[in-house]
Amino acid sequence: MEHGKNVWTIVKILDWTRQYFTDKGIENPRLDAEILLCAVLKCNRVKLYVHFDQPLSPEELHQYRQFVARRGRQEPLAYILGEKAFLHHVFKVTPAVLVPRPETELLVESIAKMASGAGKIRILDLGTGSGAILASLLDLLPEAEGTGVDISAAALGVARENAGQIGVQNRFRARLSDLYEALPGTDKYHVIVSNPPYIPTKDIASLAADVRQEPLGALDGGEDGLDFYRRIIAGSARHLEPKGLLAFEVGIGQAEAVRRLCLKQGFDVTAVCSDYAGIERMIFAARKGSFYEDAIMALGRE
Ligand code: GLN
Repeated sequence: MEHGKNVWTIVKILDWTRQYFTDKGIENPRLDAEILLCAVLKCNRVKLYVHFDQPLSPEELHQYRQFVARRGRQEPLAYILGEKAFLHHVFKVTPAVLVPRPETELLVESIAKMASGAGKIRILDLGTGSGAILASLLDLLPEAEGTGVDISAAALGVARENAGQIGVQNRFRARLSDLYEALPGTDKYHVIVSNPPYIPTKDIASLAADVRQEPLGALDGGEDGLDFYRRIIAGSARHLEPKGLLAFEVGIGQAEAVRRLCLKQGFDVTAVCSDYAGIERMIFAARKGSFYEDAIMALGRE
């Protein structure tokens, strides 16, 4: 048996899983197979290739099979692994939070660049989820402090853990609230950032099967997907410092509509930026005379 043809070696099980995932319609079958096997064997992908003929132990095989079955049921890879790399850190994720996306890294990097030199600013992250945006910002801006708001207590638990893991917990306040609702009316922030739910309700059903396993409350942006932008922009009148910055991630085709909402609210300096795929994905808004005015204008010219 040990040397028989039924021994599951690394190469054999990867080939089998690639085919299985392909049949299940998984987008990156081979890559996902490798990543899951690495998690079981606690190694990196190079090591898989060096040890192609290594047989798996019964325990390894058992755990791997469970992982593969879960992925086969379209569970997001990050939920199976329990983590997702985002910018400079690995964040804990659970099904209570949206999995942080690479395009959101650009939003964080842009804000950090714009706010470098701004000193002791207060940042509000509305719908913080895993806390990836706010914790990363606090890490990049060592003088800043922030409040991460979420309507989900379970998400806030994850966000707190991530802030602790990254070492920014002393400057990260987690607050259970439906957007601004539970915030004291006098709270003012220099930066309000959000990657709110922005998928139009009618489009939810046609999202990829694994995305549909993420919290609906983090995806569904109402009839036109813009519900949260309307509320956030309106509430900024009370909670954003006059010289402050409003920064959003937006969905495909929403940038111009969100920019118009900002203009209507009196934010007369705006810039729209694209993600790695060339999709207009971020919008920055401020008022003339804002600390961020020049930075936004520079972005707009890029
Ligand atoms: N970026 C997510 C997606 O592509 C949506 C997240 C959101 O609604 N903010 O599915």
